[in-house]
Amino acid sequence: MVFYMLYFTAELENLTNLQPRGGCDDPNYTYYFKVKCENCGEISQKETCVTMSESVPLPNGRGTANLVQKCKLCGREGSIQMISGHGQPLTLELSQRELITGLMVFDCRGFEPVGFSFGDGWKAESMIAGWCSSCCLLLNKC
Ligand SMILES: [Zn+2]
Repeated sequence: MVFYMLYFTAELENLTNLQPRGGCDDPNYTYYFKVKCENCGEISQKETCVTMSESVPLPNGRGTANLVQKCKLCGREGSIQMISGHGQPLTLELSQRELITGLMVFDCRGFEPVGFSFGDGWKAESMIAGWCSSCCLLLNKC
């Protein structure tokens, strides 16, 4: 298994505490990404959407994961499980210092998540009339 930490940052203007609506561990926040097969390197054509509140049984019958998918090219099955408790909202201070903050950890077996995209359902606290631009997601192995 490999753990990946998803980080995010954005340019905040008069906003602070940017995070998914229900917090970084929002069980209903949807993550959109593609998966790369560790066996043959094939990247899925379609984006997968995964939420923490939805889990499916693992093919071997031992527990569940948030995503179980089969590689279209080689047929190998992989799974991804989200691990909560590692995210922090992006504060104005972090944004001004051009720092990133953690969002979610993914425990990946057989697949590597690639190409995350920002979904809906974010919130921030407004300090006056604020706005947010250049949102960006980064993925690091941890
Ligand atoms: Zn494959």
